Amino acid sequence: MEHGVGTTFHMCANLEGLHRNIQQRTASWRVVTDAKNRQHALEIIRAEMMKGRRVVPLGDACEGFSYETGCPGHPPATTTTEAT
Ligand SMILES: [Zn+2]
Repeated sequence: MEHGVGTTFHMCANLEGLHRNIQQRTASWRVVTDAKNRQHALEIIRAEMMKGRRVVPLGDACEGFSYETGCPGHPPATTTTEAT
């Protein structure tokens, strides 16, 4: 796949890194939207990893999103002009 100028990539979080950061309190557990507390957040992340997932989208999963490698990248739209 070619990644030309203007290709859009959506943000995603690495589950392993996120788990570690929440555990070490370098990241807020509140980034896990459904979590009620830190322990719950870690449980949710571990459950995601048990499904074989490595990354999760920040926000809605986009078209072609992979739970292993994240956003595939989206070519710039040809019909609209977006400021980058
Ligand atoms: Zn995307």
